[in-house]
Amino acid sequence: MKRLILATRNAGKITELHAILADAGLDLDLVGADAYPHIPDVRETGVTFAENALLKAHALARATGLPAVADDSGLCVDVLGGAPGIFSARWSGAHGDDTANLNLLLAQLGDIADEHRGAYFACAAALALPDGTERVVEGRLNGTLRHAPSGGYGFGYDPILQPEGETRTCAELTPAEKNAISHRGKAFRALVPVVRELVG
Ligand code: IMP
Repeated sequence: MKRLILATRNAGKITELHAILADAGLDLDLVGADAYPHIPDVRETGVTFAENALLKAHALARATGLPAVADDSGLCVDVLGGAPGIFSARWSGAHGDDTANLNLLLAQLGDIADEHRGAYFACAAALALPDGTERVVEGRLNGTLRHAPSGGYGFGYDPILQPEGETRTCAELTPAEKNAISHRGKAFRALVPVVRELVG
């Protein structure tokens, strides 16, 4: 069976991509970056989600000699010109502190009325081969930002993003409901024909 590496240590992302590939009839041995602990994490020096996803996918493909997939994602707020964007995970300075990031964003938008609170989650998913071949696709989840967090599922900014056409926030959707409409789900599904073409 052909092996495909996913540049993440997040078990949830591996499960999600695995299910999407299996649904598409692609029988691949999908493993996370944890299977290669000697390979260091890549510095995300790109200025777009696509650049960062490609950086991570190329680094892993080069280091392992195997096809590699990577994703990069974040929240883009209209009134902030697309920020936090690639800085979503480190918006409050403390890398990975979801609660601090969310609270800072809510405070920054405190005076902004409902009609100007448009935002979307964006995700770029990249496939790189050891010979340098690369492809990148993107997915979005459009919505609006609440004034206060709501819901216990998910992570990051989920408690404040209400998807278009929904009355609940992303953190009030079950994981299956969110995966069906999410930026990451859309990007991973868009990657299926690319994986079929380049990996088999
Ligand atoms: P990553 O690229 O998946 O590591 O995500 C970067 C950051 O973007 C996360 O730390 C979150 O703050 C934010 N983010 C990305 N996707 C989501 C999501 O689906 N829900 C909530 N926050 C997200």
